[in-house]
Amino acid sequence: MKYVFMLLFVFFSNLSWAQNKVDVLVLYPDTVANVLGNNVAVQAANFINQGNSAFTKSNINIQLNLLDSVQISGYSNTACNSSVVSSLETNTEVTNLRRFHKPHVTILLCDSPTNNIAGNANYPSTVGSGGAPKALAVALYSHAYTFAHELGHILGVGHGKISGSTTHTGVPISTSMGYGVADNYRDVMTYPNAFGNAVQYLFFSNPAIKTCIGQTNTTCGTNEYNAAGGIPTVYTNYVSKYKSHWTNLQPTQLTTFKFDIPNPIGSMKIEMIYPTRKLICNPSYAAQIYSCEHKTFSSGQHIFQITGQGSTWKYESGVCQAGTDASQKTCAYNVTVADHNKTILMSAKYNGPPLPETTITFNANFNILGGGSTSLSLYDNGLKLCEFRYSWNESINTCTITLPRSNARLELRGSVLDRFEWSDHINNNYNNYGSCDPQDDSNYTPSLCNINNLNGTPMTKTFSVWVYD
Ligand SMILES: [Zn+2]
Repeated sequence: MKYVFMLLFVFFSNLSWAQNKVDVLVLYPDTVANVLGNNVAVQAANFINQGNSAFTKSNINIQLNLLDSVQISGYSNTACNSSVVSSLETNTEVTNLRRFHKPHVTILLCDSPTNNIAGNANYPSTVGSGGAPKALAVALYSHAYTFAHELGHILGVGHGKISGSTTHTGVPISTSMGYGVADNYRDVMTYPNAFGNAVQYLFFSNPAIKTCIGQTNTTCGTNEYNAAGGIPTVYTNYVSKYKSHWTNLQPTQLTTFKFDIPNPIGSMKIEMIYPTRKLICNPSYAAQIYSCEHKTFSSGQHIFQITGQGSTWKYESGVCQAGTDASQKTCAYNVTVADHNKTILMSAKYNGPPLPETTITFNANFNILGGGSTSLSLYDNGLKLCEFRYSWNESINTCTITLPRSNARLELRGSVLDRFEWSDHINNNYNNYGSCDPQDDSNYTPSLCNINNLNGTPMTKTFSVWVYD
């Protein structure tokens, strides 16, 4: 009998503090995707986190929530200016994405600052084009402060002092403005012009706090410069209502391209090259990525390009020979989407020349505590290769297997497996130690551990398996 002790830590915090949630949809054009690659979603999440820390630090009850970050087509001009913000109101793809995700706020990551301006946003208003809430902004893809700054505008915060006697007041609450002290510090909404050499910090003005720049007795705002006073009212009167416009509409129908790759080998890439909105999908056996999905919103023709080695790719009844030698080859599929709400499956299978084999000897050392029996099996992609057994009358501790290829992924399944550790053992040199904690299997369901990165070198692997019975 296995005893499992669980310690439950329950944290109570902010139970009386209902958060004013702001659901944010982040969009980005091809040009930003080209710069950030697969890191766009990470960057968007980082911006959201930094924005939230600014609200927390400023004691403002706003909680940003990232709905999704989506690449869009049709924005070769990604200037960070007001004309791009205006264009978002009427762009069909953007509108369909807003209908689907139902955001409070939509922000396009831009990559081309204009006259040192890195972003632009709408102030709160009841409706924009077609009755939709404006709640739109562009913000430079590389700068978290700009992202928070533009969100501040959507929440009604103005820049504050921009030169001697000129002030950008908040909308519609005029005192909701940026605050700073010349040659010392300034908040995220301020322009540098009026503050000399002041250092910008990620906070919003609030006369009630003293810790906005990390020191204990700082003036963080005045009654005249008080974003913390204006934002909650703007949230209640405007922002909280932005979502309902989308909620009241039917969501758009989506077409999903689903790529199902049962046994990918080596490097492959699936890319949607037409229309310009791109999907990049890298199925990988080693990384255990076997499928990926792409949702698109337009009917019409799409072209997928597949790059890979030694594989035959199939799309429905079509066949595409991607390559049968070590060089990278590409092929393209034309896919016509007649209407929406379709799921299109594309599958791939290996059909190339034999790949290098490798021989690995596994030795299992069972450490049975308390008696009992166990078995431990090695699987390659669901195919059982060998089995170790230990009980009162038998002990099978060694098996030698030949893997069908050099980069196989092994699964270790045991009947009462609790934990195993392993190491490579070549010529008395031990290296590549590893361990794995499979799921609890007290009900005798097979546990599963993956052993990755077998590099094709013949070797001996020694497993130490601890079984608690
Ligand atoms: Zn601004």
